[in-house]
This record gives sequence, C-alpha cells and structure tokens, in this order.
Amino acid sequence: MTQTDPVIKTQNSSILPENTYVSPNTGKTYYPVVGLEIHAELRTNSKMFCSCKNDPDEEKPNTNICAICMGHPGTLPVINKEAVKHVIKVGTAIGASIADYTEWDRKNYFYPDIPKGYQITQFAFPLITNGVINIDLGGGLPLQPVKITRIHLEEDTASSSHTKGDFSLVDFNRAGVPLMELVTEPVIHSAKVAGAFARELQLLLRYLNAGNANMEKGEMRVEVNISVSTEQGVFGTKAEIKNLNSFRSVERSIEFEIRRHVDVIEEGGKIVQETRGFDETTGKTFSQRAKENSNDYRYFPDPDLPKIFISEIPELAPDRIKTEIGELPWEKRARYKKDFGMKDEDAEMFVQNDTFRKFFDSFVGAENANHSPEKIKVGINYITSDIAGLVKKSSKTDILISVPFFIEMIDMIDKGELSSRAAKDILFKYWGTQAEGGAFVENINDETRSPKQIAEQEGLIQKNDPEALKKMIQEIIDVNQGVVAEYKAGKEASLQFLLGQIMKVSKGSVNPAVAKSTLIEIIK
Ligand SMILES: [Zn+2]
Repeated sequence: MTQTDPVIKTQNSSILPENTYVSPNTGKTYYPVVGLEIHAELRTNSKMFCSCKNDPDEEKPNTNICAICMGHPGTLPVINKEAVKHVIKVGTAIGASIADYTEWDRKNYFYPDIPKGYQITQFAFPLITNGVINIDLGGGLPLQPVKITRIHLEEDTASSSHTKGDFSLVDFNRAGVPLMELVTEPVIHSAKVAGAFARELQLLLRYLNAGNANMEKGEMRVEVNISVSTEQGVFGTKAEIKNLNSFRSVERSIEFEIRRHVDVIEEGGKIVQETRGFDETTGKTFSQRAKENSNDYRYFPDPDLPKIFISEIPELAPDRIKTEIGELPWEKRARYKKDFGMKDEDAEMFVQNDTFRKFFDSFVGAENANHSPEKIKVGINYITSDIAGLVKKSSKTDILISVPFFIEMIDMIDKGELSSRAAKDILFKYWGTQAEGGAFVENINDETRSPKQIAEQEGLIQKNDPEALKKMIQEIIDVNQGVVAEYKAGKEASLQFLLGQIMKVSKGSVNPAVAKSTLIEIIK
C-alpha cells in the first residue's frame, strides 16, 4: 500500500481504550495498527534441504556446508521432514488450517549471503493459514486475540559480518537452516501486545521443542509493520521496522514509531512507506530504504523439489501430531490460575520456567499428598519466593531440594509445627551455609536429614505450648526489668526489643503474633 492507496476498512474495529494513542500536543485520539512478521530458526539435526548439521552454536565459520547449501550447479535439494513437522505442530497448536497440498518456490535476488541467487521458500502454498494466539496481559483484562495470516517454511540465508574492516565476511553455516516465517494480521494496537505476542511465540516454540527462538542470538527475528490513523478501522501509510534484537526493542520501536507518525501527521507531513532500523542506544528508528514489492523477486515453483501432500505422510497425521503436542503454555497458564488461584506473576513464572514448573507439578501431583487449597498456596509462596531466591544465589539452575522433602516441610508449616522463619532456616540449611563475609556456599546433597529431623535437632519446632512460652517470656522479662519499665512509661520501641529477645531465645520457633500477645498480657 502506498500513500495514494485508498483507505481499507479493517474487519475487526473493536478497540480497547488502551489500544489508542492520545496526542500530548493536541489531545486528539489516534489508532495505531501493528502487524508482525516473525522468522524463527527451527531445531532439527540437519539443514532444510541437505544433510549438513544444523548447529546454531558452531563457532568455526563455514564448517557445516556442502555443495547443496553452497548452491553448486547440478545438486538436488531434499526436504527435511522434521522441519515440516515442527511447522505443522505450531499450526495445530494455534488452531490453524493445515494445508494438504504444498509446494516450494524460488525467491530470486542477488546478495552475497544467498549463494544460489535465490532462496527456497513457500509463496503461493504456505503450510499454515489462519490460526490465532490469544494474548493474556493479566490483571483480569480480556484476552487479546492476534490472528495469524500464514506460516510458511523456507531456508535461512548465510550471515554476513561487516565489522572486521573495509570488507565483509560471509559465514555459510547458517545458509539453508530451516526457517519458519509467521505473519500476523494487522490486528495489534499496542507495543505491549506486540511484545507479549513475540514472547508467547517464543514460549510456544520452546514447548514444542521446535526451536530456541533466542532473539539475542538471531534465532528469532521480529519485523514490525506499523501505521497510525486518525480514524478507527482505517489504515494509515505503514512503515516497516527491521533488525530488532530483543522483545524490549520491539516494544520501544513501536512506541517511538507511534509518536513519530503522530508528529508527522500533526505537522502536516506525510508518512513515507519505507523500511526503518532501530537504534537501541537512542531508542529511535531511522530510515533505511524504500520497500521492495513482492513481484521484484520473480517467484516461481522450484522445479527440483516435489510437491507434497501432507495426508500421504503418516508421521504428519493430525491425531499423531495432536498427541505429541501436550499441554500448551496458554492452557497451563489458564489452568494454574483457575485450579490453584495463582496470581498472574506466579502463573507466569511457572509457565516460563521449566525447572519451577516441573517442581510445582510434582508437588501438587504427588501421590497421597492430599493437599488442601491452602497448603498448595503455601507451597506456591515458598517456591516463588524462598526457593527462587536460593536458586538465584546458587551456581546451578536446578532446585536442590527434593519434592518429598518439600512436601514434608509444607505439611509441618500447615500443622503449625514450623514458623515461616524456621522453614526458611531449614531450606537454607539443606541448600548450603552462609560463609564468613556473607557469601553463600552450597553443600549439595550433604544434608541427609528430613525437615522434621532438622527441626527437632536444631530446636526449630514451633513452640505451641502456652505454659512453656509464658515461662520463657517471664525469664526474659526478669533479666530486662529496665526495658519493661521503659515500655510501661510509653516507649513502644522497648516492646520490639523484648519481642526480638523472644525470637532470638526461641530461634524463631514461636509464632510472633502469639509471642506479642502473651508478652503484653504478662507485662500488664
Ligand atoms: Zn549443506
């Protein structure tokens, strides 16, 4: 679409207030519209059309190359079934239409990173069309559906480096790696939803074991198409932002472009349809070049590759794909919130983090665990705060305590046998010790006692015996007569001092609220 194109009405014009932009200069409301194009490298053993290793971590340039991916004449490409399967899994997960018939096209252009002089891609017959990912922004907001136009499979280009001097270097290790391209409908209206969509897609690819999708490593690359209109449901002239290396850059570049478009419009100017880059240091986008049209590429079907009928390939049968997919990230998120009353941020932590999710799932799913909803809440709190804190301190990313140990500890807290202070101590003792100077030293597998044994031997069992508590408090009062007098004279801080003494003597094994009420009662 160019500047002179007639305006096109969008189908879905229900726009939430947070999806509009109000100009700080004029107070006018604008309607941003964003569509995303996302490329993601797929995790396979070999490349898309040859048997070279697909190894994103290979550091030695031009190691995983052969006559096929180097584009030598007379070679024949062979389709990688695993890559096709990954894309079909993604399509199935998002409820898309899976094509039965598909074919491959040559996209012709010359560039040093494309040795054949064309890229093999899918133009007219993509594997996947339609589909939707519903974005959950949390806070009880309605889900934001992001419709997907298509997903197709192609081969990646080589990677060029222009930083070594006044010449360029090309590494062909990446040439021919399976690459998935996903295009959304222009139905996104804010930087937040765009960022959340890209994160959700990354998560999906990881859940499906289809790719790492690490943006910093270029395994996932997001391009933003953005326009701003003065009228709801109408498209303005769009700009395209390329080379975004992080989710944060996706969001920041959109925020910047919305303001830039509005400024241009309000100054009476016209937005030029072009490709722009994003400078992470300044947070600004900059003009790169005018946009090519797709017909510049002279697409035509690749004569070297067979047409595929998906229904003829047993491994790609819909039932088989469905059973291999498992519970999806958004299904897990919704279930955690519904079944366990999890807060948004806790559910997110479990959905995002494999280690914590597996630990939590084993905790709630343990046989004969017989957890009450309250007990599960206590468990969630300990995992997301104390255990997460210890993992952060630890040199490992694993949770070093066992699930049965954790279940026994939570049981004791539930029965009132352990105070939260004592539970923290037990976790800490199991995990390691605080060395001199405050450094944390792990003692992996050194602690073989159960939480009950640790608590009993270290005097951490919560003292619920009122007589014993009174006796201990009386002893503290006896040796602190001066402080008691100060409290009686109105000094509140003195009470805190006495409470501190009680916690110290009891090693934190008394319930602080009970200690306070008992102390006040005795002093009176
Ligand atoms: Zn090769």
